[in-house]
Amino acid sequence: MIRTAGIVEESFVDGPGIRFVVFAQGCSHNCTGCHNPHTHDFNGGSFISIDEIISRMRKNPLLDGITLSGGEPFEQADKMGLLAARTKDMGYDVMAYSGYRYEEILEKSERDKGWKSLILNTDILVDGKFELENKDLMLKFRGSKNQRIIDVKESMKIGKTIILD
Ligand code: SF4
Repeated sequence: MIRTAGIVEESFVDGPGIRFVVFAQGCSHNCTGCHNPHTHDFNGGSFISIDEIISRMRKNPLLDGITLSGGEPFEQADKMGLLAARTKDMGYDVMAYSGYRYEEILEKSERDKGWKSLILNTDILVDGKFELENKDLMLKFRGSKNQRIIDVKESMKIGKTIILD
């Protein structure tokens, strides 16, 4: 079961194409100006099973992928990793948002199987905390300029962080 702040079954703004979005409940980053403060409480939200998410995704043949947003998906990395792996097996691409930076995630994933599973099953990562002083409404798929859109697969392949436009 995943603790969620909400689900959007069809989104055009949370990544490329048409996406199923799971908003994780629970976040400790405390970014000033966060637009989703209701997602911070680790005891809030409600539970949904991975099977239920998969079943709802199967009903929409137009979906391109899944986006794991927050809250902080990496705080439930074991379950999110499993969800990401299952959706990838179904042919979807996986995008994840995190307040942690890619390099921090790689470091933690050396010690934590859940984090490893989630990052290995992520195609695109939008990383870093939201910074109010770097807020830019014109940015695609991210809220502030410091956040990066990372091609995780390519970055892992060549051992260097590859940032997408
Ligand atoms: S990481 Fe996201 S949800 Fe968490 S405080 Fe920052 S902006 Fe809000």
